[in-house]
Amino acid sequence: MKYISTRGQAPAQTFSQILLGGLAPDGGLYMPEEYPRFSADDLDAMRGMDYRELALTVLSRLADDIPVADLKALVDKTYTAAVYGHGRTDSDFGQVTPVRRLEEGLYILELSNGPTLAFKDMAMQLLGNLFEYALDKAGQDINILGATSGDTGSAAEYAMRGKHNVRVFMLSPLEGMTRFQQAQMYSLQDANIHNLVVRGVFDDCQDIVKAVSNDLDFKSLYRIGAVNSINWARVAAQSIYYFKAYFAVTTANDQKVSFAVPSGNFGNVCAGHIARQLGLPIHKLVVASNENDVLDEFFRTGVYRPRAGAETLHTSSPSMDISKASNFERFVFDLTGRDSAKVRELWAAVDRGAAFDLKAHGLFERVAEYGMVSGKSTHKDRMATIGMAAERFATVIDPHTADGLKVGLEHRDPGIPLVCLETALPAKFEDAIVEALGRKPERPAGLADLESLPQRYEVLDADVEAVKAVIAAHAND
Ligand SMILES: *Cc1c(COP(=O)(O)O)cnc(C)c1O
Repeated sequence: MKYISTRGQAPAQTFSQILLGGLAPDGGLYMPEEYPRFSADDLDAMRGMDYRELALTVLSRLADDIPVADLKALVDKTYTAAVYGHGRTDSDFGQVTPVRRLEEGLYILELSNGPTLAFKDMAMQLLGNLFEYALDKAGQDINILGATSGDTGSAAEYAMRGKHNVRVFMLSPLEGMTRFQQAQMYSLQDANIHNLVVRGVFDDCQDIVKAVSNDLDFKSLYRIGAVNSINWARVAAQSIYYFKAYFAVTTANDQKVSFAVPSGNFGNVCAGHIARQLGLPIHKLVVASNENDVLDEFFRTGVYRPRAGAETLHTSSPSMDISKASNFERFVFDLTGRDSAKVRELWAAVDRGAAFDLKAHGLFERVAEYGMVSGKSTHKDRMATIGMAAERFATVIDPHTADGLKVGLEHRDPGIPLVCLETALPAKFEDAIVEALGRKPERPAGLADLESLPQRYEVLDADVEAVKAVIAAHAND
């Protein structure tokens, strides 16, 4: 199977060819040329599978140029209780992503038991192993450059630490991350991980990454790569847990399930869309926004109006604070009936900072066919939902998961199970939990003293040349 660009002007590529890259050369995002479909018989066979078997079944269709035996070894190495169990030994961890029942028909899908306590570990850990495998095979190396406001950077570093032929240069802002998030990243002592702390805010970090990536000579000389959320392998790996959850809460494949997804860059919910296209009987995909409601506005009105970075609000669910949703183009590509000329026309507006209105293109009615609905959650809603979940279900959820639960409940249908994706553990957002519940969240075993571990980072001015100099000094270590 080949992958094509949403903008239709780049050559088709294999999974391995797009694995290490980001955008297609025409500025689009890669999508499968045609979706493989799981039949009713396939789904019956998948129902009894454990996480690793399911992962292999899904990925072997999407990454069909990697020999199945190699893919199996990578999957087996990635999805283990040691990586996703945080020292817990209960039998649930054989499941990798257990579902927690809140009440009849309402569940939390646990995705945040990996090393950095956020769902991004689910895909990023696989990406680490896939990168190492592909680079070894090709005899190449890569220097990953990224900017983080918290969760992505730590997930990338924990996935790439100690991997051969991979170095990570992660820019993080001096201001804006929680102490826990800083300690998670800066306490890593691996020689291939470089934490560059920029005197500035997240937008400064992102601007530097863009400037370095636009210097094509530097980029090719130092083999600069990325692991951002548009990476197709990440989306593909995220589709696996939709299958796992579906089988966990149903008894037969004529049943449907709805999923509520706390959303920012639209990666996680896009993976749900992909699972649906692969044949999983999904009823609704509920897109939950916070105060940064670009996506909710679209699903209510048909208008996609990315905000300027400076318009982005800083909220108590910070990992959803986005001004534009970088994976959204994938969904719109399918929505237009895979009309790449239409996508080019729509994104010509987006790329000049303007909006588009799908109603004006006669395409908005189609959104319903894909089961996508949305809603918005504010700080007040988030606090109330964390309180409600603690009281009614005796469970503590993080602020992002609370946004998902709040909006999910607004779209719940009788008789259809609703699965809310847990995108982080509450331990990661201690201040918000203290505000909501008046007490600190529990920490997983082994992280009690995280903030007192020795830290390793370098502080730099928000200056492109300073960052380039650090990369140049270590790019061949
Ligand atoms: C990244 C992240 C999100 C948003 O996910 P997208 O795939 O960008 O939509 C939500 N919650 C948490 C905790 C995250 O880290």
